[in-house]
Amino acid sequence: MKGKRPSTGLVHGGRRPEWRGRLVNPPVHRGSTVLFDSVAEMGAAAPAFGKSYYGLHGSPTTWSLAEALTELEPGAGGTMLYSSGLAAVTAALMTVLSAGDELLMVDSVYGPTRRFCDGLLRRYGVATRYYDPLIGAEIAGLIGERTRAVFLESPGSLTMEVQDVPAICAAARARGVVTLIDNTWATPLFFPALAAGVDLTILAATKYIAGHADVMLGSVTATPAWYGKLERTSWDLGHAVSPDDAWLGARGLRTLDVRLRRHEENALRVAEWLQAQPQVAAVLHPALPACPGHALWARDFRGSSGLFSFVLRGGGDADRARLIDALTLFGLGYSWGGFESLAVPVDPQRLRTAAPWRAEGPLVRLHVGLEDPADLIEDLAAALAGYPTS
Ligand SMILES: *Cc1c(COP(=O)(O)O)cnc(C)c1O
Repeated sequence: MKGKRPSTGLVHGGRRPEWRGRLVNPPVHRGSTVLFDSVAEMGAAAPAFGKSYYGLHGSPTTWSLAEALTELEPGAGGTMLYSSGLAAVTAALMTVLSAGDELLMVDSVYGPTRRFCDGLLRRYGVATRYYDPLIGAEIAGLIGERTRAVFLESPGSLTMEVQDVPAICAAARARGVVTLIDNTWATPLFFPALAAGVDLTILAATKYIAGHADVMLGSVTATPAWYGKLERTSWDLGHAVSPDDAWLGARGLRTLDVRLRRHEENALRVAEWLQAQPQVAAVLHPALPACPGHALWARDFRGSSGLFSFVLRGGGDADRARLIDALTLFGLGYSWGGFESLAVPVDPQRLRTAAPWRAEGPLVRLHVGLEDPADLIEDLAAALAGYPTS
């Protein structure tokens, strides 16, 4: 739905009549082999978006979701889908990097992305240098001869620092350096990343796009200048996404607006309540003034989602474990972005190198789901009541 507002795009995007027939939703197209009518037709064919060629190169089910995601990013050239968010991150990095290059990586990045950089990327001759998430335009001072790409994640995983995306992208572009962002927290609904100057924007669609904790999925949306290389690299790596999974992603996408707004409202209720509790030293939520980079969130974002963290006032790992184990409505498990609430213990101090993490107590990350926030607050209040106050 080019030119329409984002919530309209979520409903209408990718629903071409040639993909869905008379149905509302494009059905699940299962297939590997595509049959051609003649040797001449086969010889003239080539893989391309929207053209049946071979299972690897997509089907109406996957093109529909890809097109809907592309239309949420004004100025985008196209979207590739992956079997997980991490596969999307690694394919995007392999699209832009070659042996001998240096990558500038935000220190607050999602742990498995960091692991990929320090392990596999390094083995293939790419050096990664970590930078402070709050560096802003001063990133220019880190860009050297070999710097090829800057990777952002805003807000940062676990610690929620909001980055100055436009300033970092402008500094990178001035030096011919490509920028990538992991935009999973905000989604294009709350932060259209390409409009802020990013070249490739990545979503763990497992989270809010799918929204129901029932599928693994990733996407990368690129500018027209980068889309062709992204497509080629992804096919060379053999990335294909199951049509059933793409279908679930598209089903989730249609309700992203209403879900995200309720996650936002519920999370703010819980975050503001937590802020007033004596056992809580700090609440790291981009929409609250205490969060590093809050002013940037207020300037650049259209909303906040359901994921945030809080620092406990004193206490240790065992106290934090008792607190989390006492919760009854918050599940204990990895991932987030589904309809349900989750709580996990997180330890950024074990990961960070450029901007060490220090806090006055252990950290807990919450995903606030679509339950009644009054029930979630009662659950947290009961669990916090047992927390030692010094
Ligand atoms: C979960 C997550 C990923 C990875 O997505 P998967 O689908 O679980 O592989 C990437 N980035 C962020 C910020 C995430 O939270």
